Amino acid sequence: MKPQVDMHMHSWYSDGSYSPEIMAMAATGLQAACLTDHDNVMGVAEFLDTAQKIGIDTMPAFEGSTLFHGVEVHIGGYDINYQNQVFQKKLLEVTDMRHRRAERILTLTMKLLDLPQVDFKEVVRESDSHGPYFGAWWSRDYLLKEHGISYQVSKQLTSRGGRAYVPYEEECLMQPTELIEFIKYYGGEACLMHPGEALRRLVRLTNSEQRGRTKFYTLLRQLVEAGLIAMEVFSPKHNIEETTEFFDIAKRFNLIMTAGSDNHGRFTSKVPIGREGMSYDDFKRFREKIHS
Ligand SMILES: [Zn+2]
Ligand SMILES: [Zn+2]
Repeated sequence: MKPQVDMHMHSWYSDGSYSPEIMAMAATGLQAACLTDHDNVMGVAEFLDTAQKIGIDTMPAFEGSTLFHGVEVHIGGYDINYQNQVFQKKLLEVTDMRHRRAERILTLTMKLLDLPQVDFKEVVRESDSHGPYFGAWWSRDYLLKEHGISYQVSKQLTSRGGRAYVPYEEECLMQPTELIEFIKYYGGEACLMHPGEALRRLVRLTNSEQRGRTKFYTLLRQLVEAGLIAMEVFSPKHNIEETTEFFDIAKRFNLIMTAGSDNHGRFTSKVPIGREGMSYDDFKRFREKIHS
């Protein structure tokens, strides 16, 4: 079956390389698509506008960052009242922190690579990043363009366990259940994004497949109790075994299964927009559930 829906894409307002308009246009041929930038909704209006013009169904959305036992867990908020000022202000606390963190990471990376220090503001200004924070891909892109450092090298250095890794300021992030309540308060519904990543991180953290899994199920039960209604089962971050596992989990917990490419424009050029697994009927069912 041809992909009909893409519930997960990024624009240059987070760590994707293209504008929301281009991302919407790239989804031409799909029945529905959503822009889910990290912790901000700056690109939503432009995306909705373009999608409407070219006849793609959509909902305002974002991908929120949370921490569970120090492990990053991403939760999508769909059909939220994105224009609400209080809602936007709360998200700014997260992106301000992300921006401070991005500066520290880049400074540290350049120091470790023995590169001359630069003015961070200047790096941001000269990039195509348009969002409230400088996304990780933009730093990697700068290092590649200016210093020939491959994405692989900078990614390794700056990811958890890498020498230039800087942890999040925890007090600026919500707990997963808090984020779900926040999303619901502003009229939307929540979806656990690429759960395989959270599971892998919990396994690594606990150094045990079994303990990691137990923690993951604890998290999942908490999320469902807080009102989680969907799970991104179909994601390029999942292999076939994981997809099968999350398919079963979603069924067991009665969660709507979503599909997303997690496309970041040219930063993830191998991942095409649109993902098999979710039909347009599923998309409409998801939206109906939000409004029921
Ligand atoms: Zn994510
Ligand atoms: Zn994403």
